[in-house]
Amino acid sequence: MFSLRGKVAIVTGGNGGIGLGMARGLAAAGARVVVAARNAAKSKDAVAALAEVGPDPLAIEVDVGDEASVAALVRDTLARCGRLDVLVNNAGMNIRKPAHELALDEWRRVLDTNLTSAFLCSKAAYPAFRAAGGGKIINIGSMMSIFGAGFAPVYAASKGGIVQLTRSMACAWARDNIQVNAVLPGWIDTDLTRQARQQIPGLHDNVLRRTPAGRWGTIEDMSGIAVFLASPASDFVTGAAIPVDGGYSIQG
Ligand code: NDP
Repeated sequence: MFSLRGKVAIVTGGNGGIGLGMARGLAAAGARVVVAARNAAKSKDAVAALAEVGPDPLAIEVDVGDEASVAALVRDTLARCGRLDVLVNNAGMNIRKPAHELALDEWRRVLDTNLTSAFLCSKAAYPAFRAAGGGKIINIGSMMSIFGAGFAPVYAASKGGIVQLTRSMACAWARDNIQVNAVLPGWIDTDLTRQARQQIPGLHDNVLRRTPAGRWGTIEDMSGIAVFLASPASDFVTGAAIPVDGGYSIQG
């Protein structure tokens, strides 16, 4: 039920952080993982790490905000792996400024990287999923898919949009046996949040206080949900937005 043997999975931003945590889970369950990101050196290291747990991983460079680059990613994946079964739309970034300080090009950069990217990659993958008789899309949202954040309006807008894009693609593609779900991570220890801890005084302790589990998440905490949503175990789950947050979002 949870086996991914013979499946091919693209993980955008799979060369570090949450993407690498998810990629490890997918590889260990048997999937051949395509690490899709910009930094070739980081991707090479990720492929070496994944090769220790799963079959024949590879890296393909992509800029997820660029339609031609995304089309090339899917084309190269099909050429090198012969099929595509799973797409994890994980690549993301943040620019932490309140709306009155945010420039239009910064707004566009975050939306392109976090939201437009998921549309472009999913649209590019759709014909391959149809050809294979089905597929799985896992979009990465955030606690800011649910909550507002004065210091990150564009990030919150992008992550709110991810949930509605997830639901809409899930409705449209259910009859094609394509399940589309979102994962909403709580506060996970990665490069992104290490930077946030430097920029936001008190963040580290606030997360500890606010999270019922009493700790930050690790990238390993993201592996199991990726395997579930990529595997036949979730064939009747679609359009869901699942928090993986140690209880952060249910704390009143
Ligand atoms: P990291 O900064 O560690 O990873 C971000 C990844 O995205 C990198 O692998 C980076 O690779 C890739 N990336 C960024 N821009 C592009 C681009 N234009 N094209 C291709 N790849 C790109 O962050 P996290 O692991 O923390 O974040 C991963 C996802 O999880 C993001 O969507 C983030 O918003 C979300 N998230 C994170 C949370 C956390 O607490 N850490 C909480 C909730 C959500 P490269 O630089 O090589 O391109």
